[in-house]
Amino acid sequence: MERRAKPKVVQDIARQRIEILFDLSKQELEAHPKRAARYIEIARKISSKYNERLTKKQKQSFCKKCNTPIIPGKNATVRIVSKPKKHLLITCGSCGAVKKHFLDKIEKPSKTIREKSRNEGA
Ligand SMILES: [Zn+2]
Repeated sequence: MERRAKPKVVQDIARQRIEILFDLSKQELEAHPKRAARYIEIARKISSKYNERLTKKQKQSFCKKCNTPIIPGKNATVRIVSKPKKHLLITCGSCGAVKKHFLDKIEKPSKTIREKSRNEGA
């Protein structure tokens, strides 16, 4: 396996595929949850193989433990905790994994969540 940097075209394709897989996994979540998790798994593999980083938004949109796409209000519980430090507590509805997002590290958490639920409604 080559370790050299991949050509830019390849990187672009990798990024596009990751985006497509993330979109697909959201669409499939309801009808085929296992398939949705599989899409995220593939997207993560592409991302590590091609050194193509996931965007912040993408990283927040799935459960690291079971790869299920996280959609607040649908298959995940999101709570805002203010003590000792402001953070979001996101509980995955399918495996129960809890993750924290510290709010000072997130640029606009409320906007991200609104966007997510809007995309879901469409
Ligand atoms: Zn999970």
